[in-house]
Formats: sequence, structure tokens, C-alpha cells
Amino acid sequence: MKIGILGGGQLGRMLIQEALKYDDEFYTLDPNADCSCANISFFTKGDFNEKQAVIDFGKDKDVVSIEIEHVNVEALQELEKQGVKVIPNSAIIKTIQQKILQKLFYEEHEIPSPAFQIILSAEEEIIIDYPFVQKLNTGGYDGKGVQIIKDESDFNNLWDQPSILENLVDIDKELSLIIAKNERGEIKSFPVTEMVADPKLNLLDFNISPTQISDDVQSQIDVIAAKFMKAADSDGLFAIELFLDKSGKVWVNETAPRLHNSGHQSQEGNANSQFEQFYRVLKNLPLADTSSLGFSGMLNLVGEENCSGKVKYEGLENVLKLADAYVHLYGKTETKPGRKMGHINVLSDSRDELLEQLIHIKSLVKVVAV
Ligand code: ADP
Repeated sequence: MKIGILGGGQLGRMLIQEALKYDDEFYTLDPNADCSCANISFFTKGDFNEKQAVIDFGKDKDVVSIEIEHVNVEALQELEKQGVKVIPNSAIIKTIQQKILQKLFYEEHEIPSPAFQIILSAEEEIIIDYPFVQKLNTGGYDGKGVQIIKDESDFNNLWDQPSILENLVDIDKELSLIIAKNERGEIKSFPVTEMVADPKLNLLDFNISPTQISDDVQSQIDVIAAKFMKAADSDGLFAIELFLDKSGKVWVNETAPRLHNSGHQSQEGNANSQFEQFYRVLKNLPLADTSSLGFSGMLNLVGEENCSGKVKYEGLENVLKLADAYVHLYGKTETKPGRKMGHINVLSDSRDELLEQLIHIKSLVKVVAV
């Protein structure tokens, strides 16, 4: 089968890596000839935001999918019209691409998400209470395009762009649920993972799976997941990012219509990985067992601040000497501050030991420039 993926980053790379044990041809489209998928797939250099480039790329494929959601949706609609299978469908990608549409979607389908106000410019009257979080309608990524406005004295910092202003949640834990649906209508999720963020870089830092949550919290998440999948009405693999607040209520932060950083530890931590699951969705195969094999965690290898240029992974050999630690690099030759260059998965029998091991490994390795 000819499988076309818009985007040639690490998510596509790990999908292809997993799927190579089966018999398919993977094609990728990315503007960067040096991207993570360029050397491991049939690669086309081109812009996935350009309508014609996406149509030309997709028209002879059996299925077209994405590993980044910021792609040209009109082209996907056109491909659907031409009879190409597009997973997830163009409608849900379009909704998720824009934070305003995404929030209205949650509201319409009674999916709990923090109360919000839409603004098109900074001129508009602010009716939401301080403090609030401003999120740009488009263009945000990895915590960029998100800021907290604390009080009226902070008002001058408000970005003058279409945005949502959202209640600040008093967060106890940030959680993520990865869930997949195939064309046969099977739906399967992974155990809920917990994300521990690095406040300085605002980038995801550790994932821990499974998280420890009460039955009540689990059932709130189950209800959210069922509502989301019904409303989305699309095959695909989705990451639903959640906040558990200090009063025990679960809110949806946002959803990604694709493979997700919060699922990487499933490569060694679960009976099957998110990449295996997504492959099965693309082929409409029976969905895979997602059971946890114990506690697993992940830390991102991100470029050190003040380091740009040809990448060097300092201390990696010390990690390779450890049992139960698994290194994944993304084939990116150039490092930049905060750039995701790889990750390390860690397995453990206990959550405390896992955290200790993650912190220890983080201290062993540094992503620097030569
Ligand atoms: P991105 O899409 O760039 O990852 P998010 O919407 O996930 O942006 O926001 C990044 C981080 O900002 C979240 O992980 C969370 O820590 C914080 N955040 C976002 N929205 C809220 C909110 N309503 N209340 C409290 N913190 C928030």
C-alpha cells in the first residue's frame, strides 16, 4: 500500500521505523530536504501548506495522513473528493488547526474545557476575569503563542491577534490520553499518561505512564474520550491533552489529531506503541493491545540554550550502559536551543524509581553543538 504522510519530522520517522516490519511504501512531503524522514522514505521536497503541492503529492496514494496538523486543508478536501482516503479527515484537522474553532467544538459537544472569550484584536473589551491565558488562534506550537495575563497591569502585553482568552486552571496534573479509531469502528486508548513540564522552556519534559489517578478521574476521562471520538467522527489517532484541577475536575486543554510526544514511552513501555497503533489505523487492521508492561517514562532530548550548529550528544554512552533505558534520536543534524532532537525511554517497576532514573539520566546527557 502507498502511504503518504504530510510532514517529515520525528513522528513520521518513528511511524515508518515501526511499520517497516510490514510491507508498505511510505512517502513523505516536507519543505526541509534534511528532515527526519528524508532518508528513510520516498521523499518529496515541498510545502505541505501549498494546496497544489499537497494535491500532487496525495493523488496517487492509497491513504494520506499527517504528522503535523498545520497543513493545507483545502487540498485534503480535494483529495477526499477524488476518492483518496484521508486520515484523520479534513474536517477534524480544520477544526483543530484553529484554537477558536477547537474551543467552539468543545462547547458545542459539551466537552469540558476552560471557559473562554474570543477576541479578534486587542481593541476588544475584555470580559473574562483575570488572570487568564491568551492563546493565539493559529501559529502556536510547543508553548509558543500561549501567555498568562495576570492582572490589568499586564494588559499591555496582550497580543493584538485573533486569540482565545481562557480561564487559568489551578492545575494539579497535566494528563494525556492517546486514543485511536479505525474504519471498522474499533476504538482503543492507551493508559493515561502524566506530563511534567519544564517551566523554563515550556516544553514537555517527562512523561510518566500510567499515571496514578482515582476511579472518578478515570471515569471523567472516559466520558470525555467517548464524547470527543463521537463528535470528531473520524478515523485516526488523537492525543487529548487534559488538566486535572486541584478540586478533582478534568478539563480538556487541547487535542492533537496525530501521533504525540506524550505517547513516546509506549515504544518500550506498552505491549504496542502509538506508532504501531497508528499504522493499524492507516491500514484498517485490528487495533493493537495497549497494555502497560510496568511503569514507563520519557525525557525529551532538547538542544541546550546558547548552542546552535552541528549536533553532538554529550554523555549518551553513559545512558547506553544502563539497563531499561532506550535512546531514540531523530536524525536531525543541526541543533538549536529548545529543538527536540531525540528522547530516552525508561522502564521501571515503581513510579518513584522511574522518576529518580529519569532525573538521573537527564543529568547525564546534554545536546550541544560541535
Ligand atoms: P501548546 O499547544 O503550544 O503546547 P498549550 O495550549 O498546551 O500550548 O499550553 C502550553 C502550556 O500552558 C500547558 O501545557 C499548560 O501548562 C499551560 N496552560 C495552557 N492553558 C492553560 C490554562 N487554561 N490554565 C492553566 N495553564 C494553562
